[in-house]
Amino acid sequence: MLLFIDLHKQQLRIRPQIEAAIRRILDHDKYIMGPEVFDLEFKLAEFVKSKHCISCSSGTDALLLALLAYGIGPGDAVLTPFTFFATAEVISLLGARPVFVDIHEDTYNIDPAKIEDVIQHIKEKENLNLRGIIPVDIFGLPADYDSILLTAQKNNLFVLQDAAQAFGSVYKKKTCPTLGNIGATSFFPAKPLGCYGDGGAVFTEDDELADIIRSLREHGKDIGKYDNVRIGLNGRMDTIQAAVLLEKLKIYPEEIQLRQKVAQQYTNQIMHESINLKIQKVSSEVLSVYAQFCVEAPDRNRIVERLRENDIPSAVYYPKPLHLLPVFKHLGYHQGDLPVAEKVSQHILALPMHPYLESDQIASIIDVIRTEQMSLR
Ligand SMILES: *Cc1c(COP(=O)(O)O)cnc(C)c1O
Repeated sequence: MLLFIDLHKQQLRIRPQIEAAIRRILDHDKYIMGPEVFDLEFKLAEFVKSKHCISCSSGTDALLLALLAYGIGPGDAVLTPFTFFATAEVISLLGARPVFVDIHEDTYNIDPAKIEDVIQHIKEKENLNLRGIIPVDIFGLPADYDSILLTAQKNNLFVLQDAAQAFGSVYKKKTCPTLGNIGATSFFPAKPLGCYGDGGAVFTEDDELADIIRSLREHGKDIGKYDNVRIGLNGRMDTIQAAVLLEKLKIYPEEIQLRQKVAQQYTNQIMHESINLKIQKVSSEVLSVYAQFCVEAPDRNRIVERLRENDIPSAVYYPKPLHLLPVFKHLGYHQGDLPVAEKVSQHILALPMHPYLESDQIASIIDVIRTEQMSLR
């Protein structure tokens, strides 16, 4: 069967190891902050070459912990692009204001040129304390960090990398999420590296921020558990999820390679058969883990329909750009304010993507799209 993300094929590969790992936890009974949690943090930090890794309860909480560590609150503003809702949600949850920046039409990532414009506008017109930028590595593709970091430095802003979709992607030899001051990722089951529930992690080189985030993750504790020094969260990762991730991390490098192969096959077939789809542009200096394989199609909704008729699942990320969502109405954005994000949300389409997708499955997907496009000519 052709699934959008086939988690079961992966599970079949490592099921005995996962069962043994969970059995070890049932034996030692340390369900919260058990040894597997610290083992995982060490191995994740090693994997991305980061000084600190702080595991936590979800990707959303990873972002929230980072913003709490920076003391974000009312009166503050944080820049964010076209993304999943959670990125902007955490800014608003803390009483600060998300300021949306349009994306680049080829990468769907935040457009550095437009960051400057938005900063200028905030300085001139708004009574807001602009504190940071949350670039998102959308669909697994790293954002343009050289430019983003330069702008951030010039304007004294922090960079919080939202690599929820991009754990293990590479930007100029550095592994995501280590490109900003703090990086956040998610281990939601459908992410490239996922556990069997919710999970996330924060990465940083900064000792002080790491200490604060470790405290925030456990109700703002100090050295001891009951001498709380700040308001925090119950934001820990379960020991069982850490154990699942330890097993999955072992095969992750191979899975990243398999993802490259799948993406390459999609790309080759689309190019060689002159199919009218625009592919997310991955430059030679980056490697994407392809959380999604996204294309833009002029006739997106018809293609979705044809794929469905052929039992091929697809998805739209995201049908509405955040600045036009009802929940952000009070921010005063209108249709036309972020034209690229608006256009992309009309045409974007995610095709099935996982490391175990087979060549003939890819061929059958492309075949349906070709037939549909031929019928329109
Ligand atoms: C999935 C995702 C999140 C949230 O992660 P959860 O683990 O689901 O809380 C945040 N940002 C982006 C870009 C995501 O894709």
